[in-house]
Amino acid sequence: MSLPKGTTVRSGYNPLQPRVPKGHGDDSGEWTEAANGSSGTASDVTEAHQRRVARFKQLRQLRPGDSSAGYYNYGTPIEGEAQWALPEAIEVIEDVAKRWRDETGKPPFGVGNISLKTGKPYDRHKEHGDGVGIDIRPVRKDGKQVGGTNYDTNPAYDREATQRLVYMFLKTGRVEKICFNDPKVKGVERCRDHDDHLHVRIKLP
Ligand SMILES: [Zn+2]
Repeated sequence: MSLPKGTTVRSGYNPLQPRVPKGHGDDSGEWTEAANGSSGTASDVTEAHQRRVARFKQLRQLRPGDSSAGYYNYGTPIEGEAQWALPEAIEVIEDVAKRWRDETGKPPFGVGNISLKTGKPYDRHKEHGDGVGIDIRPVRKDGKQVGGTNYDTNPAYDREATQRLVYMFLKTGRVEKICFNDPKVKGVERCRDHDDHLHVRIKLP
């Protein structure tokens, strides 16, 4: 049998590939395999998968922030489509944002991509498939709600305030790690492509 030109043959079933709910993200929908519907996975894989599915079902959308909330929203796709998070992650964001507002009096900080509603990894955002990885913009001296604030090239970058924000996240005791590449900021790890944003990973409940 020969396949029509240009046809891609799907590779085998990957147990780590998340599934999508029927009905395009409908909470009540049954969960199905996104790839090819094959069955017969090993039981340990199934268990790990069941836990993942249970977590996806808990994803909640981060509320639109403003100056009174202490954070603002950005990210792709826009309008919060990629701001679905586990309740624990939302709690951490909201707690830190309140403290940021009350203790620093600074303009809100930017919260970007977390996860899609399905928990499905998208684009290059492999770290954004489970509702606990949160992109945060470095703090700017001018308080502008824009991107491109690279620690090493952008004079608007505010290292001192960014450090303060990092400490606030760490102080919650609920952060697994923070990626950011400014070597002068403490409490962070260097990760590829993290010169202009922080990636805060919350401990899984
Ligand atoms: Zn990220």
